[in-house]
Amino acid sequence: MTHHPVLVVGGGAGGITAAAQLRRARPELAITLLEPAAEHWYQPGWTLVGGGVFSLEETGRPERDLIPSGVTWIQEAATGFDPDHNRVTTSGGQILSYDVLIVATGLTLAWDRIAGLREALGSGGVCSNYSKDFAPYTWEAIQAFKGGNAVFTCAPMPIKCPGAPQKIAYLADDVFKRQRLNASVIYATATPGIFGVPTYAAPLRDVVKRKGIDARYNHVLTEVRPASKEAVFTVKENDSERQEVIPYELLHVTPPMAAPPVVATSPLANGAGFVEVDQFSLQHVRYPNVFSLGDVSGMPNSKTAAAVRGQAPVLVANLLALLDGQPLAAAYDGYSCCPLITGYGKTIMAEFNYKQEPTPSFPLDPTKERWSMWWVKRKLLPSLYWNRMLTGAQHERRFVPGASR
Ligand SMILES: Cc1cc2nc3c(=O)[nH]c(=O)nc-3n(C[C@H](O)[C@H](O)[C@H](O)COP(=O)(O)OP(=O)(O)OC[C@H]3O[C@@H](n4cnc5c(N)ncnc54)[C@H](O)[C@@H]3O)c2cc1C
Repeated sequence: MTHHPVLVVGGGAGGITAAAQLRRARPELAITLLEPAAEHWYQPGWTLVGGGVFSLEETGRPERDLIPSGVTWIQEAATGFDPDHNRVTTSGGQILSYDVLIVATGLTLAWDRIAGLREALGSGGVCSNYSKDFAPYTWEAIQAFKGGNAVFTCAPMPIKCPGAPQKIAYLADDVFKRQRLNASVIYATATPGIFGVPTYAAPLRDVVKRKGIDARYNHVLTEVRPASKEAVFTVKENDSERQEVIPYELLHVTPPMAAPPVVATSPLANGAGFVEVDQFSLQHVRYPNVFSLGDVSGMPNSKTAAAVRGQAPVLVANLLALLDGQPLAAAYDGYSCCPLITGYGKTIMAEFNYKQEPTPSFPLDPTKERWSMWWVKRKLLPSLYWNRMLTGAQHERRFVPGASR
């Protein structure tokens, strides 16, 4: 057993950002990062991989290059959490004890909850931007499409980047229209509406109408039949359920998502399997020396890398306050951002908080489709991610102690 004053589990967007900001705030603090992966992926770029704008390689970097200097990296996975004894066990058989724990393992993709999907993925027009293994195939499938039904699904919430399932539908629709293909673009979503935040749902409904996309709500994908090229949905209508079979030539799947089992089955989890932290302080409600941020945390915000930008400074300030015996004064307001790509060269920059209020970073009407916001999505945000967020340089303006409670 080895002891680690601050142990960060997960070195994705949340774990690296929190570790980097902690290093800057208190260089003498010993920080250990537990992360098994050798590569780090900028997942928000995968929509543009599927849309043929980025190569997959552009969205990945060696994890080693991103770990803040001075942070100790253990390249193993957490296999158990024992917060009653301040311990984490690892895939290499180690026991790590800690003073403070940060949990940032992200989400697991539950492909197997859809019958036939695993076998179907990656050929026959069945693709998904949600995995680096299949995002390049999305672009291949879009290019190979010659007409018929192009079906884009969205799984029940919570998922990471709830806007991503429809962004790729809009890009594909642009390609099909440019090629004058006889295409029916169907957006079949488990959600009851196009987007959860009313301010941004209104312009998106206009986009769907303008493009002639067939949006079908309350549609949960349950099965893929690659031999007959059929997608099977359970459709909830009032109190009843029915099955609907939609034939496809192209099928873009957003899989259901869940907290990794190691978290979901641990004492840290809430009823849904996510880390049970206070939505404002990001401190665990039962284990005060445990914090969480990113997709695995149990706050009711929209799960995005942008949300991490709002969460990390709050978590760092409150963690340091805890170490100093001070009150935890910083509060996260639920900030999230979903750059809603509505076509090549067009994006609605949807920024909002827990109260579903628009929180635009730019002095422009955020409900409008803009070329400038496409540029922000394509050029500015990747650069911000690699060069400022992951280096701990960016301290979000939303870090307001005591705000928004
Ligand atoms: C297709 C797609 C489009 C997206 N678009 C956007 C967008 O436009 N804007 C936006 O802001 N966000 C977007 N996102 C969401 C964004 O990528 C995530 O919200 C963000 O990466 C969450 O950060 P995280 O640190 O919680 O999880 P991740 O970045 O997923 O990192 C989790 C890390 O934990 C590690 N890990 C897992 N299990 C263990 C374990 N047992 N022990 C140790 N380590 C473990 C993993 O290896 C991984 O490195 C998109 C995501 C996808 C897939």
